[in-house]
Amino acid sequence: MGDAPVIVWFRNDFRLRDHPALKAAVATGSPVIPLYILDEETPGPWAPGGASRWWLAKSLAAFAHTSATCGGQLILRRGAVLRELPRIVEESGATAVYFTRSYEPWAVALENELKSRLETSGVAFKRYGGRLLREPEEVRTHTNGAYQVFTPFWRAFVNGLDVPRALAAPEQIASPSQPPKSDDLRDWELLPVKPDWSGGLAEAWQPGESGAHARLAGFKSQLAGYKEDRNRLDATGTSRLSPHLAFGEISPAACWRAATGAARGKGGLDQSIETFMRELAWREFSYSLLVQFPRLPEAPLKSEFADMPWLDDPAQLAAWQRGKTGYPVVDAGMRELWATGYMHNRARMITASFLIKHLLIPWSRGEAWFWDTLVDADLANNSASWQWVAGCGADAAPYFRIFNPILQGQKFDPHGNYVRRWVPELAQLPDAVIHAPWTAKAHELAQYGVVLGTTYPFPIVDHGRARARALDAYKKMKAT
Ligand code: FAD
Repeated sequence: MGDAPVIVWFRNDFRLRDHPALKAAVATGSPVIPLYILDEETPGPWAPGGASRWWLAKSLAAFAHTSATCGGQLILRRGAVLRELPRIVEESGATAVYFTRSYEPWAVALENELKSRLETSGVAFKRYGGRLLREPEEVRTHTNGAYQVFTPFWRAFVNGLDVPRALAAPEQIASPSQPPKSDDLRDWELLPVKPDWSGGLAEAWQPGESGAHARLAGFKSQLAGYKEDRNRLDATGTSRLSPHLAFGEISPAACWRAATGAARGKGGLDQSIETFMRELAWREFSYSLLVQFPRLPEAPLKSEFADMPWLDDPAQLAAWQRGKTGYPVVDAGMRELWATGYMHNRARMITASFLIKHLLIPWSRGEAWFWDTLVDADLANNSASWQWVAGCGADAAPYFRIFNPILQGQKFDPHGNYVRRWVPELAQLPDAVIHAPWTAKAHELAQYGVVLGTTYPFPIVDHGRARARALDAYKKMKAT
């Protein structure tokens, strides 16, 4: 036991449970300084987007509150971490900094730089796991690279997986007698003001560790139907844990243990439980790719896609972003995203495919829009998924398999209820035409209050022609 404090540097691991770095810091018996630094410089283009800033504000407030219940006083600072962290070490006389490992390329470089700087001045810089179930280096091919196909990754991942046992929240976090000064969260102005677009987010979510565990507890009762329901746009068939995982309010280990617990209760794995586990493993797969290919967020994994003859059409990009493409299921997805900061996975695939293939707009533009608007924006998952849809990523769907947005709508939203919810101007339309309103006669539409081109747009591209154009672009790329 010593009086020199230990700093626990938090980034996107805002939880007390299942936190090895915090547990180790408390176990030293020294006073602990929980620290968060808002660094908008170091990540460059990958600083938190608008929706993430909203979540961050709420999550920090919740975390400060729960830390305080066990004596911890969360210290907030703003600025480049490389400047601010050594500064607070010096101010506080801390002899050690403990933290959870991150995997974004800029975060990896930062950790390396901090390590050499702090250790040179005699400060211990100790890295712990917790963000993933397994470290990417543990799941490698025989040539010691990252798997680029999911199924062998999955096999290697589960084989030898030793799920971390649950760590309880510390009973007591001892604060130093003179804690360092902290910024006031409100001064950071993370929340939108003029206009305040966050009403729908606040209605949909409860950021923070207790919200995350409540979400998992609620999902356990739905897990049995996950395999069937997860693709239905008109049902809440998935866990919606993604923003909680992105901000580390719950550990992936807790989610995995919930699944194994459900399997024990049933006397074995069923397909729904295994499917949920595989989705958690897709997250690990994305991280493993990001570590191996740090340019994943910017450059196509299949380099030939750099020659794709993309189009630059700001008006069509804006129509997509605002949910005004004239394809109801695409517009429903984009509007769900705008209203709640979340979009159903099936809708993410449909809307991303539409942008890339029907509009021929580069996947990186969609990736950037999602980054700004998703509450679960996660560099590894977002970039791996966009590349997957574009056909240039790992284990990707082939480019020439082009989703038909009408059929996708009819299949995964068979009664049109997802569209009715998010595109209310079409709500009166009968099921038969709701996914393709232009197929109905104008006088029929008028009867349901729809005037195409006025109350709802005509399709901004014709599906057949757009499909042919996309295939042609692909051929041109292949020929270069
Ligand atoms: P569930 O079905 O309940 O799955 C449980 C957890 O598994 C999720 O919370 C998530 O952490 C993980 N998971 C599920 N599907 C995937 C997947 N395909 N890839 C990686 N991990 C997965 N997910 C993000 O977390 N952040 C993103 O920024 C993101 N961007 C995406 C962009 C596109 C174009 C696409 C097609 C998918 C993206 N995803 C992203 C993956 C997926 O859509 C979301 O993780 C999922 O919809 C979250 O909902 P859920 O928590 O209810 O998922």
